[in-house]
Amino acid sequence: MTDAAARKEVIDEAPEGYHYEWCVDESWRIGGNGRKCRMLRCQNQAVAAFDRKHGKFRVWWHYCESHLYGRKIQDGKVIQRILVEDSSPSPDADSTKGTLNERT
Ligand SMILES: [Zn+2]
Repeated sequence: MTDAAARKEVIDEAPEGYHYEWCVDESWRIGGNGRKCRMLRCQNQAVAAFDRKHGKFRVWWHYCESHLYGRKIQDGKVIQRILVEDSSPSPDADSTKGTLNERT
């Protein structure tokens, strides 16, 4: 039951023809600098910061692990989930492509 709850949080059904991929979000960096999460009423220790570009200044907004907006931390990077169109056809859909490839 805790399993199901955890799964629901991370994996939603992707729309037909799409899937999710995780990629590094360059706007975020690891490290809370000893700050608290900036989310209202959240007292957690920040674990990462979001780069709010503010003119030529960089303003880092620090957030705790539960307020990463669906992102997560892996291998020392903040990664985000993006929706990607399925480009690799499944094996049984591949037969229709054969005729297109004969023109070489
Ligand atoms: Zn927080």
